[in-house]
Amino acid sequence: MIIRTNYLHKFSHRNAETQRILWNGSLLCVSAPLREILSLACLVTVLATFTSAEETLDGKDGRNLALDQFEPKSTLRVPEHPLSRAKFPVVDVHVHPRYKLHSVPEQLDEAVRVMDQQNIAVCVSLDGRLGEELEEHKKYLWTKYRDRFVIFANIDWQGDGQPDDPSSWACHRPDFGRRMAVALADAKRRGVAGLKIFKRLGLEYRNPDGSFVAIDDPRWDPIWEACGKLQLPVLIHTADPVAFFMPIDRFNERWEELHRHPEWSFAGDEFPTHDELLAARNRVIERHPLTTFIGAHVANYPENLGEVGRWLDKYPNLHVEIAARIAELGRQPYTARKFFLKYADRILFGTDGPRPPGRLSPHWRLLETRDEYFTYAENQYPPQGLWNIYGLGLPDEVLRKVYAENAERLIPGISERLQKFANSPVEQP
Ligand SMILES: [Zn+2]
Repeated sequence: MIIRTNYLHKFSHRNAETQRILWNGSLLCVSAPLREILSLACLVTVLATFTSAEETLDGKDGRNLALDQFEPKSTLRVPEHPLSRAKFPVVDVHVHPRYKLHSVPEQLDEAVRVMDQQNIAVCVSLDGRLGEELEEHKKYLWTKYRDRFVIFANIDWQGDGQPDDPSSWACHRPDFGRRMAVALADAKRRGVAGLKIFKRLGLEYRNPDGSFVAIDDPRWDPIWEACGKLQLPVLIHTADPVAFFMPIDRFNERWEELHRHPEWSFAGDEFPTHDELLAARNRVIERHPLTTFIGAHVANYPENLGEVGRWLDKYPNLHVEIAARIAELGRQPYTARKFFLKYADRILFGTDGPRPPGRLSPHWRLLETRDEYFTYAENQYPPQGLWNIYGLGLPDEVLRKVYAENAERLIPGISERLQKFANSPVEQP
């Protein structure tokens, strides 16, 4: 067996037919029926070995290389300034303690320890929900860390309806918008600071006739109006990266990631397009000029900062936050730097965390340094595009605005927490 394996390995570059012939030749001295059996066995082994040889796309010895095996180590030698904490106190306006910490107290302790170490003063939990669940979440975050978290509510579109029967959903009953407006006023009294809308609005929730619930459906107008009156900013996640709306093929710049997560794809006629979703969101922003909107993930169009800039010019009530988009911003340092300088009053800091130190550091490095061609995540595969990023080297006054001042101005409850953080004896490393 060992000999055979070596033999096959040696000839693995030849085609199966050639190998079968070689093997038949080497079996001539064996009796005919046995030769038949052995020959068949050999053929099977040859094919199996051949297949596995083809699967080993490791790029060695002239073999091809599979994309998910490609881990180039840069030979570039330029000055490096890895940063272990932010230069100024930070407000992270986009975290998910309910989903990412699973409401485990020890995990919250650890997250706050990382916040201290990284100079993150306050986090905005986007997982508050409403009613009893809101109370639970407040208890989780605020029992020990009231000064470090503010909480955004979420709308429960489904209510007590059946998940697979949209006609039974709360949002399709009369007066849903008005009832949610009342619920939001109540949530405000209980201490929530804003409303988070998930991308499921536009990409998942359905009308009774099977069509997608439109983001700009007038039935939700009372919700947006209430947020304006109550001064609850709306952090709205609409659509996803542009590449997620394109076919998963060799032209897709996020192929490797979509190949691992095909469920993230919204390509195809059954989904609205990226443009349609963002246009529907923008109509809501336009219709409600007295409501503050924060477009999650650079309004989900960091691939086209020129267009985001035009929206910011057009809608004074729109702001953006940068969570989970440092890979996009950092691959266009000239354009992104100009964008930050021009819209310094409109950009908020976010991470989609809580994140471990290794994922936070590239954020500081992107915004504060002019480092070149560095990794934005420690993962084996860069999680959001197979490329490296460049620092923007933002001036201090822009950093202060993006890190905290804009959030302080827009989100209730941030200012007093920043004050306390500034006065607290947090150990400086
Ligand atoms: Zn998020």
